[in-house]
Amino acid sequence: MKIYADNSATTQLAPEALNAMMPFLTTEFGNASGVYSFSRSARKALKDARETIATCIGALPEEILFTSGGTESDNWVIKGHIPLGRIVTSRIEHHAILNSLSYANLFCHGSAIILPVNKTGIVSCRVLETALSRKASLVSIMLANNEIGTIEPIKELAHIAHQKGVKFHTDAVQAVGHIPIDINELGVDFLSASAHKFMGPKGIGFLFCRKDTHFYNLMDGGQQESGLRAGTENIASIVGMSTALNNCCKRMQKMSKKLDKMTSVFKEMITDAIPEAAFNGDAVNRLPGHISLSIPGINGEGLLHFLDLKGIAVSTGAACNSKSTQISHVLRAIRLPVSLAKGTIRISLGANNKSEDIPIIAKSIIEYCAKTKKNT
Ligand code: PLP
Repeated sequence: MKIYADNSATTQLAPEALNAMMPFLTTEFGNASGVYSFSRSARKALKDARETIATCIGALPEEILFTSGGTESDNWVIKGHIPLGRIVTSRIEHHAILNSLSYANLFCHGSAIILPVNKTGIVSCRVLETALSRKASLVSIMLANNEIGTIEPIKELAHIAHQKGVKFHTDAVQAVGHIPIDINELGVDFLSASAHKFMGPKGIGFLFCRKDTHFYNLMDGGQQESGLRAGTENIASIVGMSTALNNCCKRMQKMSKKLDKMTSVFKEMITDAIPEAAFNGDAVNRLPGHISLSIPGINGEGLLHFLDLKGIAVSTGAACNSKSTQISHVLRAIRLPVSLAKGTIRISLGANNKSEDIPIIAKSIIEYCAKTKKNT
């Protein structure tokens, strides 16, 4: 038996995406920049993929810039704004954002304002407003958190940034393909996405960059991606990404319903058996199928290995070595007590999961807790 329940880490490539990619990995190998007819299908595929992705998020095709994934998109935006002034972000961002800021401090003497979050991981509008009483070049707040699943009030936060004349970026890597996204509704200037989080291939993503927003070029070379990111396009992966995103968007409502139902069954089973268990993140504004579970008195890593032996894949919020337990920066930011943080696992359900998986995962967790209790 194998149950993969770590879809926030990565997802399985959709068969439709693989099928759409195959011609560009085999016969249709032309370079999209070529002037001869051999390149025509690659060029058309690139144009179509850009249009499809743009439609999925309410953007214009020329506002979509292809990158190698979420990390590159995040680095591009942050490092592009460092020379322009202070960057405001939050304590729960992905390391692709936070470590890009360390680079800023190291090389550009830049400074950043890192905002706190409340106990459910929400960035407060009032806190942002106060931070923006100082000059800034960019606000970057993630749309949904990868560890605790909380969805941020991006529309309100972007509005505050714009009132102060500051551009707004959102790392939407966990959200794209899973919740409805309209960049005009959100009012963001930049948005990062990564294909492998929505059943597309790994190593490909995009950055939405609003038209007429002045932006620097990441890679120097040819004229690909409007001259902003040079390098021969990875047509197969781009086609796979657009196919996967289009699929996810079409079945999003149905999928959310299915994942919500599975989540409530799981929560009920766990709460009945382990009343002291806690669920992290915002209870309402959260990613479908995303569960951050903390059980006091257990070791999250031990539980992960126990589940792994049963063929169930989940992830933890704390990593132990022989001397100490490293609690993730996100769990520290929400001020989760150490005993709970140490016993935290993340279960992220996806399209691959069946309702039969839920009792198997829940019963295995309950079994581990009963064993642990008996031994203490
Ligand atoms: N941002 C967030 C919120 C993520 O969860 C991840 C990956 O887990 C990334 C950025 C990095 O994306 P990629 O794996 O495409 O580089």
